[in-house]
Amino acid sequence: MKSVLIIYTGGTIGMKEDPADGTLKPFDFSQIKEEVPELNKFDVRIDSFTFDPLIDSSDVEPSLWVELARLIQDKYEEYDGFVILHGTDTMAYSASTLSFMLEGLSKPVVFTGSQLPIGMPRTDGKENLISAVEIASAKDEKGHAHVPEVSIYFDSLLLRGNRSTKYSAEAFNAFASPNCPPLAEAGINIRYNADLIRKPAGWDAPLRVQTHLDTRVSILKVHPGITPMVARHFLCAPEIRACIIETYGSGNALSKEWFLDILRDADSMGKILLNVTQCKSGTVNMDLYATGASLKHAGVLSGADITTEAALGKLFCLMGRSDDNTWVKTMLEKDLCGEISK
Ligand code: ASP
Repeated sequence: MKSVLIIYTGGTIGMKEDPADGTLKPFDFSQIKEEVPELNKFDVRIDSFTFDPLIDSSDVEPSLWVELARLIQDKYEEYDGFVILHGTDTMAYSASTLSFMLEGLSKPVVFTGSQLPIGMPRTDGKENLISAVEIASAKDEKGHAHVPEVSIYFDSLLLRGNRSTKYSAEAFNAFASPNCPPLAEAGINIRYNADLIRKPAGWDAPLRVQTHLDTRVSILKVHPGITPMVARHFLCAPEIRACIIETYGSGNALSKEWFLDILRDADSMGKILLNVTQCKSGTVNMDLYATGASLKHAGVLSGADITTEAALGKLFCLMGRSDDNTWVKTMLEKDLCGEISK
């Protein structure tokens, strides 16, 4: 019998209205099959693990990612797949970072959540949970997982975790991965996009988990009216090792000499500077406009079509692995687990 571990970290999906006062409270996930009896129809053993305390995902810290990665490692041999129930607000950050932390993954790790609590009549939580469990346990004729990746399942689409971003605060289709097609689509059947889904180098290779994260990263969103003081703080502060610069369009920013001077200073201080576009879709191309080219000459690296969420997780993991910024820069430009188009 196949087996799936549901890991409940918190978020809207696990809430239920308390009839006493009408407020939303987390329900006991060990009774998940009573809440979602449809799960009994699968020929899958389903166990659950509940985090204590449960958190709104706005409170997620890297320590939660370390706990999640260790839990998956501990239970790796026992289960065919993992479903992580998580608040939607930072789900894309968590899924992105986990994709870099879990090396050699050969089993599905599917994040899901919902916009409406599972106990509400129109909830999207039930369908999201049921399909996530189905995907986490799905195998091909050779007995290999269909999707041995970290992914997000939401509103009929399975998206690559490190390509996803929260797109809507309200709609059921809360997530999108504009630079990468869905890994699967759920209709009458679940259709897997087999050509796109990444396979591990070895199906039986052990999972390696990276738990040391270096979080000395700032995110600077360039905007009209940005001041030298703000830019210098984000780029050159001593406590910063890397800065993700969210630029306009295809990787452009102001061409003022003071801004380029600050970038050059940051570069000569050894900071890692990564250019990520503010646009939801498309890629950084610093050769297109003079304003982009001057960033490149000042030492800024192209993040290509990476999301900010994935850039952050990638930097945390790479910097956690090595103190050598030259190595980190080389690795940043490589596609490590499907996070950039090559
Ligand atoms: N604030 C909630 C959270 O991210 C929203 C949600 O679950 O959708 O935990």
